[in-house]
Amino acid sequence: MYTVKDLEKFDYFNNIELNHALDSLTGVLSRGYILGFTKHLIENKVPFAMGIIDIDNFKLVNDNYGHDFGDKCLTDMAENLAAYFKTHNGLVGRYGGDEFVFLYFGDTSYDNVHKIIADMYNEHTVVRKRFKYHNIEHWLTSTIGCASYPKDAKNYTELFADADKTLYRGKSKGRNCFIVYVEEKHKDIDVHKKETSSVHVIFNSLNRIFENVVHLTKDEVVRNALDYLTNILNFSQAIYIKNDGECITNTSINSRNLKVEDFDFIYNKFEDDEIYVPKNITILRQEDKNLKKLYEDFHMLTFIASKVQDVGHLVLLEGKVERVWQENDFAILMYLDRLIQILYN
Ligand code: GH3
Ligand code: MG
Repeated sequence: MYTVKDLEKFDYFNNIELNHALDSLTGVLSRGYILGFTKHLIENKVPFAMGIIDIDNFKLVNDNYGHDFGDKCLTDMAENLAAYFKTHNGLVGRYGGDEFVFLYFGDTSYDNVHKIIADMYNEHTVVRKRFKYHNIEHWLTSTIGCASYPKDAKNYTELFADADKTLYRGKSKGRNCFIVYVEEKHKDIDVHKKETSSVHVIFNSLNRIFENVVHLTKDEVVRNALDYLTNILNFSQAIYIKNDGECITNTSINSRNLKVEDFDFIYNKFEDDEIYVPKNITILRQEDKNLKKLYEDFHMLTFIASKVQDVGHLVLLEGKVERVWQENDFAILMYLDRLIQILYN
């Protein structure tokens, strides 16, 4: 997709063989060349911002719709990225799999880099879009982590480590978002800690919260569990709504705002299913008056909920990003659901 003309303005690409420099599937720069160029820029002390773009839940895309559809998503995304950075002073390469790297040579101040990336999500459909191919349609989203040289990093290794930390933070915040590196906020993120917050660790911690109930009321135990989950899974609010109408939510939220009637309509939808997931937020917002009100009242963008048999309902909600809920989130929701059921029965 890139042509010799696109690349010749950068000395590094003088006299290159396009065949070698481009990724064979997507036509953007190959891994070797985008990384080689990044090193070259650092050796020559050229300031730039670097972002790592990782498509969300791409394994599921392949599993659900097949590799051809997956490949088409990758080529489409690469085309969008290359076109965007042709007009926004940058260059794109494929880092591997479902990951791309962009280099941006404009103003690397936080505000400007933030705007350049935000526009990829909001003004243009570069990194998230409703993607259609033949009869298949999928809402494809990505997460981006970004850092700048020399502002955030002295060398190549540090630069990648910083971008990786923000990408990891974005994935754990629920995906479909971007984060620009700020040293004070992100320097201590441990990307390798991923393992410690695996589902089993979370199950064990929840078990401990429910076993450790001496001197605590049942409601306090549930509140501790909700606090723990919102912190570890990084979403905005968890609510347990008892059948008598009383709500328990995380300590940081003012529960005065909660009214059980607001959730009445969810009760109906719970009738057959144990879990309630709004499939397409935009459509639901238009069609469902109650849901629209709930979204607005609670500053809610996405939620998942489950029916706790005979005792109430459990809702996990996100108000900051359009979180793409993961299989693990569902597993954890159901696990907490069972623990609450046992506690109150
Ligand atoms: P996450 O949101 O955490 O990124 O989840 P994910 O499922 O996207 O996980 P990850 O990025 O680790 O998975 C990348 C997947 O990309 C794995 C593999 O199935 C798929 N993949 C890698 N290369 C190709 C390719 O060339 N074509 C297709 N169709 N799929 C690819
Ligand atoms: Mg991915």
